[in-house]
Amino acid sequence: MSLFRLDGKTALVTGASQGIGEEIARRLAAHGARVILAARSRERLEEVVAELRSGGAEALALPLDLTDPEAVAERIKALDEPFSAVDILVNNAGITADNLFVRMKLEQWEAVLQTNLTGAFAVTRALTRGMIRRRWGRVITISSVVGLMGNAGQANYAAAKAGLIGFSKSLAREFASRGITVNVVAPGYIETAMTATLSEAAKEELFRSIPVGRLGAVEDVASAVIYLASEEAGYVTGQVLNVSGGLYI
Ligand code: NDP
Repeated sequence: MSLFRLDGKTALVTGASQGIGEEIARRLAAHGARVILAARSRERLEEVVAELRSGGAEALALPLDLTDPEAVAERIKALDEPFSAVDILVNNAGITADNLFVRMKLEQWEAVLQTNLTGAFAVTRALTRGMIRRRWGRVITISSVVGLMGNAGQANYAAAKAGLIGFSKSLAREFASRGITVNVVAPGYIETAMTATLSEAAKEELFRSIPVGRLGAVEDVASAVIYLASEEAGYVTGQVLNVSGGLYI
């Protein structure tokens, strides 16, 4: 028997145009799910969707901007069959706008909170009604170990990522009796565009603080998401699964 199959399920991944979200979308499709890929860059989404379709998967590009919650709700409401009943939501999209706190501008604070936290609120609210009706759902949100540990220069990002944990734990309690689980994946440092700007010296320093001795790969995060999305994880809710090579223990 193969584990963690998602045949017949429909998943929506935000921030699926690149990096961790793109890999999550690819893996969900590989496990048999129909996948909706959401982000701002329509062209990049269409490229990934075309690739997934040529591999035999059902996939759809959903261009949207999470900073506009009303438009997000409309875009989701307008989804047609067979993509309209979303069973698995992966809140993955996120941005950084780093600055030491004394220099942090209100705009940097608001931009990160708006995309990372309010954006997740908007998509989750739009999709959980259907999950409640169908009495089955998975909400998986990508936070960060920074939300658990804090990080100098990332007060805005850490606040949003910690906020997502409180948000998810509350929803886990509200939705448990409806067959919906709500969990969080907290990655450590993963090799993507977000961490590509780190200097070699900063990477060396990081390796020393990561017991496993390497940066994480997008596949490491996607594997955790696949587990939490599966039928097999049905008794796991309100949890934070830290995928950080031991950076946060
Ligand atoms: P990337 O910067 O590579 O990708 C971010 C994704 O979010 C893109 O697909 C982007 O698409 C999308 N996005 C950004 N803003 C918006 C918006 N306003 N509306 C819709 N989509 C948006 O990041 P990663 O893949 O590295 O990170 C993915 C998630 O994992 C983030 O939440 C990040 O905080 C988290 N994380 C990453 C870590 C790392 O080390 N890389 C560590 C811990 C957590 P587009 O530009 O097309 O809109």
